[in-house]
Formats: sequence, structure tokens, C-alpha cells
Amino acid sequence: MFTSAKKILTDLKKTYPDAGCSLSFRSPLELLIATILSAQCTDVQVNKVTPHLFRQFHSAQGYAEAPLELLEDAIRTTGFFHNKAKNIQNACREIVEKFDGKVPDTMELLVSLPGVGRKTANVVLSNGFGRNEGFVVDTHVFRLSHRLGLSQGKTPEKVEQELMQLFPQKDWAYLSHAFILHGRQICNARKPRCADCPLKKDCPQLGVKH
Ligand code: SF4
Repeated sequence: MFTSAKKILTDLKKTYPDAGCSLSFRSPLELLIATILSAQCTDVQVNKVTPHLFRQFHSAQGYAEAPLELLEDAIRTTGFFHNKAKNIQNACREIVEKFDGKVPDTMELLVSLPGVGRKTANVVLSNGFGRNEGFVVDTHVFRLSHRLGLSQGKTPEKVEQELMQLFPQKDWAYLSHAFILHGRQICNARKPRCADCPLKKDCPQLGVKH
């Protein structure tokens, strides 16, 4: 591991020792649904919606057979609810038809589900099944990877590949969460708080005006 990557990992572990998934769920299915809902929505808002949603629907079959309007109503406040309801229903239909009602636990099968991309699959694999198969590259991870000089990748897929080369596999899930926390709390998109940043000594951006 490069020295700066090692130092960044050490500093993040010191600053965010408990970084983890902030979505509430009790099963891989609930996590998959919550992750689909989290697109363009805060985890806090998703967590307000899911307790009621998870009381209404208990299985992939439940989501697959629900009247679409009922599902839309239940998730309306997460935004883009027409698309999200359709994605949830289509993914759950496939889970029922092809996987006996159980969320599959490999990258290949997860991304075969309608509306499920690599980012969602990585969230489900790492937090639902404890499998580190990649990095969750959301907008925070993408931004921080560039600011910290860890990646020049132009797409989330390219950034993910570069991060996977830089850090040990056992830390991938942790790092995704830590980057997301750091992006929310310190390294904001518009106004990064560089003076308060625990990574400032390793960051090529220090002194750059954002
Ligand atoms: S020093 Fe500034 S730009 Fe670099 S990681 Fe910290 S907050 Fe972000």
C-alpha cells in the first residue's frame, strides 16, 4: 500500500472508528430496498420511511405482488418514487422467479437484477453479507478520491478499480463508510473545512480555493 494511502486509512480509523452503514435494516432484502430508496435521498429520510414500509411488506413476494400505487405511496417522501417503486417491484419479481425469494449474494447475480448497479450491489454485499467485493463509490467517495489524489478516474467504476488497488480488501467496506462520513462532515462538496480536516497533511488540495 502507498504511504499516503496507508496514512489516510490510519487517520480515518482514528477519526471515524465506528464508521458503518447508516441505513436501518434487518435482512439483505430490507437492505436492498433501503439502498434503492437512498438514491437522491438522505439515509435519515430513508430511515423515516422504512419502518412503516417494512411492516407492510415482509418478503420479496410481498413487494412483487403489491399494487404499484400502494408501494409508491409508502415511499413517496424519498423522491423519484415512481421509478423507485418500479425498480423495487421488478427486482423483487426477479428474486422470486429466479432466486427462490432470496436476495442473491454475488456481484454477478445482484447486478443482473433490474435497477441494481454495482454501487447498490456493493452496499448489499458488504453490509448484508459481510463480503468485501468492491468499494461503494457514491458522490462523496468519488469527490474525496479525487481531492485526496487517490484516483483520476472519470467514472465511479474506474475510481472503484483504483481504490481497490490502493487499499487492502479487508478495509474496503470500512473505507467506503469513512469516506462518506468525512464527505458529509468535513470535506463537503462546496465548502470543505480543510482547517479542521484530520487528513490535511496528506491532501494535495490544502490551500486550494474551492
Ligand atoms: S484537506 Fe480539505 S480537500 Fe483535503 S480531504 Fe480535507 S477537507 Fe477535503
